[in-house]
Amino acid sequence: DYRRGGYHAVQISDTFKNGRYVIQRKLGWGHFSTVWLAWDTEKSLYVALKVQKSARHYTEAAMDEIKILKLIADGDPDDKKCVVKLLDHFKHSGPNGQHVCMVFQYLGDNLLTLIKYSDYKGIPLHMVKEICVHILVALDYLHNKLSMIHTDLKPENVLLLSMLDPSKDPRYTGASPLLPTSKSKPKPEQDPLETIESIQSTNGNLTKNQKKKIKKKAKRVAQKGAGEEASGDSESSMGLPGQEESSHEAELNGNSAEQRKKSNRGHSPATRQNLLKSVDAKCKLVDFGNTCWTYKQFTSDIQTRQYRCPEVILGSKYSTPADLWSFACICFELATGDVLFDPHTGDKYSKDEDHLAQMMELLGIMPRKITQHGCRSNEFFNRNGNLRHIRELKVWPLNKVLVEKYGFGEEDAKDLADFLVPILEFVPEKRPKAAQCLNHPWISSGPRLLEPSVPSGQVQAADSEACDDTGAEIDDRGG
Ligand code: ADP
Ligand code: MG
Repeated sequence: DYRRGGYHAVQISDTFKNGRYVIQRKLGWGHFSTVWLAWDTEKSLYVALKVQKSARHYTEAAMDEIKILKLIADGDPDDKKCVVKLLDHFKHSGPNGQHVCMVFQYLGDNLLTLIKYSDYKGIPLHMVKEICVHILVALDYLHNKLSMIHTDLKPENVLLLSMLDPSKDPRYTGASPLLPTSKSKPKPEQDPLETIESIQSTNGNLTKNQKKKIKKKAKRVAQKGAGEEASGDSESSMGLPGQEESSHEAELNGNSAEQRKKSNRGHSPATRQNLLKSVDAKCKLVDFGNTCWTYKQFTSDIQTRQYRCPEVILGSKYSTPADLWSFACICFELATGDVLFDPHTGDKYSKDEDHLAQMMELLGIMPRKITQHGCRSNEFFNRNGNLRHIRELKVWPLNKVLVEKYGFGEEDAKDLADFLVPILEFVPEKRPKAAQCLNHPWISSGPRLLEPSVPSGQVQAADSEACDDTGAEIDDRGG
């Protein structure tokens, strides 16, 4: 992906925007971007610099993300809604093209790293509850106030506010911020003053077909990228030694829990413990690159595989409840260290069908309303509402899974299942809203630092065509 239209090869101590931002180290990556810790020489603070791939599709996606981020920031002047703040944006020219860059407040590790530091055993329940409060406050704000659907909720897209000064983080070298050197002076072709809007105008005027082609290609690139990252070498030249990969996909590509555990390389138990202690569990949502509106959606192909809800798999209409499904998956994963659903392709069945089977084993049979009405329902279900290729379902309800597989006490298991099972409701309209989840005893009995907005009425499923023909889906996509 380090070719024309792809990532920009960033090096430590590189500068951006006429020397204002100096790169310190890599923070993470997704299929759209790489994200770097940078020192803002103008404001003397650390920031996160997201450098988008340069192909037109990614540029357009970044500009949409910027618009959405501005709306999100405008509605939250007091910074209480647990969403990341955009500080600046500009474009940067490099050998692979022009890259939209977004500057964010620097946040700490993502939740996948936190799960890793628990050795995939799960984090203490009081911390899970506190993280859940923050995610729910963010979701309540997005859904209720802004009519937005995040569509890609997963542990990598929830970041902790670490109390550690990044320069004192024991995992990384460097005691003070790198400042610009003569070697890292801005390159003459950079034009940081050009606005995002001007990129938009140069990239505009595409026909629908051209847009579709670019989108398809971007998806193929994304799929390919997932495979490349899993092999673990495509970015080895870019980070500092010992740096951890942040992608769930790299972790999940082998998919089994054992393989995830093997990849838990890196730091000493003491370092992990200290980092765990440094977390006060406040967190914020990031990555609004796939966010859409309840009344305007761009694709039926949303969510990362493990966090994907049944209505999306079945090609039915989706709306804000899709985010609640992903939220429940994250909550389970925080509490147990394991993904809730881990579907595989079999000899006789697809990954989607296995996913639906796993859902029913945990939560019971799907009602006909669900099995018959998606535009892909026929692929998976026969007229009797049974899966076509998977006949035997091994029922194992959530509270029993928590006790028998994860060693929970009966009461903790019951309490957590009481909270999660209604959110994992197959009928999306029946799922509780984020604000209602905040009032559930499992949450409200815990620490309560933030208030939700007033709950709204019915969530309306968007009136858009649920199935489109945009081609292959992105399973296990990055960041
Ligand atoms: P993409 O759209 O390419 O998935 P993201 O916005 O999700 O990009 O960022 C990719 C990763 O970079 C995140 O999973 C996270 O680890 C890291 N990251 C993103 N924003 C920040 C931030 N503000 N502070 C610290 N790390 C960040
Ligand atoms: Mg991401």
